[in-house]
Amino acid sequence: MGAIIRIMLTILCFLILSIPSPAQVSHAEDISCRILDMTYPFDEETIYWPTAEPWKLAKVSWAVGDGGWWYASNNYSASEHGGTHADAPIHFAEKGRTIDKIRLKEWIGPAVKIDVTEKCAKNRDYLLSVDDIKGWEKQYEKIPDRAWVIMYTGIGTRFYPDRKEVLGTDKKGKEALPYLRFPGFSPEAATFLIKERAITGIALDTPSIDFGKSKDFKVHQIICGAGKFAVENIANLDKLPPAGATLYVIPMLIKDGTGSPARIFSVLP
Ligand SMILES: [Zn+2]
Repeated sequence: MGAIIRIMLTILCFLILSIPSPAQVSHAEDISCRILDMTYPFDEETIYWPTAEPWKLAKVSWAVGDGGWWYASNNYSASEHGGTHADAPIHFAEKGRTIDKIRLKEWIGPAVKIDVTEKCAKNRDYLLSVDDIKGWEKQYEKIPDRAWVIMYTGIGTRFYPDRKEVLGTDKKGKEALPYLRFPGFSPEAATFLIKERAITGIALDTPSIDFGKSKDFKVHQIICGAGKFAVENIANLDKLPPAGATLYVIPMLIKDGTGSPARIFSVLP
């Protein structure tokens, strides 16, 4: 496996070096370079849990100063858990690892995309089932070791950052919680992936791996309890193939971080 990761990183370095200067880069060119950015920008529209501290950015300087040179700098702050981000095991497991205890290579793995967009369009409370996982395996292969298993709900992919469409409500604070409605993983599917397969983690295009109506966050407890990772609000799932890509989740290295904004991308087959 170490050799495979080395080869992947070599290919990645080559791809990065072959990307044109930022001024010339467009989304289409990113994809033709076989790198797919799967990250939403952090700005005032970024979706956070209704009770969490949202993104704040304040300009410290954005001007030519007395010395005659241009100087630009911002301050920023936010909850760790919002927008495109990763959850570390400590998030729902007292003895779980924090972000800084996880080696970079542990965040990289084969991308398995399970498309349940039709089911989620009919039922906002849909839970990914063990049968959905087995259906993917029947069509492609057994879920590879170290895979990221990604639930493609279509909700975030189509509607992010529209809070009402993605969260089910545009209310904020505690009063929003009873109105949260979006799909997620079933606890049975999470248990199957932990016990029967050797995954890195799970991801999806909604704000939580537990569905909006969840009161006990069982899937978080199962995944974090097993020392696995989660990614929420992943972008561009419509452009990710069902199999064959490699997912790179690169979180900000926060000491004692329970999660972190992450730059997420895939190298396409
Ligand atoms: Zn989180």
